[in-house]
Amino acid sequence: MIYLGVCGWPVAHSRSPAMHNAALRAAGLADWEYLALPLPPELFVETVSALPAAGFRGVNVTIPHKEAALALADEASPAAAAIGAANTLTFERSGAIVADNTDAPGLLEAIRARMDPAGRSALVLGAGGAARAAVWALAGAGATVEVWNRTPARAAALAEELGARHVASPGAADIVVNATSVGLEPNIYPFKALPLKADTFEAGSCVIDMVYGSGESRLLEAARSRGARVIDGLEILIAQGVASFERWTGKMAPRQAMREAVTQSPSP
Ligand code: NAP
Repeated sequence: MIYLGVCGWPVAHSRSPAMHNAALRAAGLADWEYLALPLPPELFVETVSALPAAGFRGVNVTIPHKEAALALADEASPAAAAIGAANTLTFERSGAIVADNTDAPGLLEAIRARMDPAGRSALVLGAGGAARAAVWALAGAGATVEVWNRTPARAAALAEELGARHVASPGAADIVVNATSVGLEPNIYPFKALPLKADTFEAGSCVIDMVYGSGESRLLEAARSRGARVIDGLEILIAQGVASFERWTGKMAPRQAMREAVTQSPSP
């Protein structure tokens, strides 16, 4: 068997095993299997270093290991190095561990299917790993990026590092990315927690909610009702999964099978 997996703590909620196992079956890779690997931080380096010898070809990495994954790797892609976090590790035949960040290209691919970000204004909400990937991707694609975060100092540092502008009170933008963890929780109303108003999304703009759950988020519902083009977190999850799958297997990822698997798997 050849193994793939996702390392996280916790990881039981992840939809990646369902998505990747569906992809492996649809691609005819019967001797491959994708596993959930619950790993507390203190065991991360030791365990991941042992995975190649145990038959693993690569792993995805999620909270809280994305920075540790980059630090552990022998080589890093430009995206992972600039973002400062990796969500994909590949165990090369040479023995090298290569870090990549497929969140950034996944997000860009989804946006480019709706609009070319070059020359557009973009607003990224958040300053964690997802926000860093979004700012790096959009700035690199030629958008003018503003960043807002609940803790302003984090947004200011991120903006300075990645070529964006920190804002305390954002205005309208062609592209809006919610990269905070404010999402589908019934007790947090996004238009209170975030500096957005339900009626200020512009028709024709592109609104992305990185958070995903069992249905459309309130933010995307509001954006859609104003005529914006919306992208949900599941589409980003699939796009980053496609990039990881193709990196590991060298085969084109079966997107339809992956979409069916993530939409059918239980909510996190
Ligand atoms: P993270 O590093 O923990 O960052 C969380 C961010 O959310 C921080 O900017 C934090 O602000 C902000 N935040 C948390 N609670 C808030 C509240 N009540 N009001 C306002 N801001 C709040 O997480 P991450 O890795 O960047 O992920 C962010 C979200 O994106 C998560 O929901 C994650 O599941 C999702 N995500 C989805 C995909 C995908 O494939 N769809 C990929 C990556 C991440 P402070 O700095 O003030 O704490």
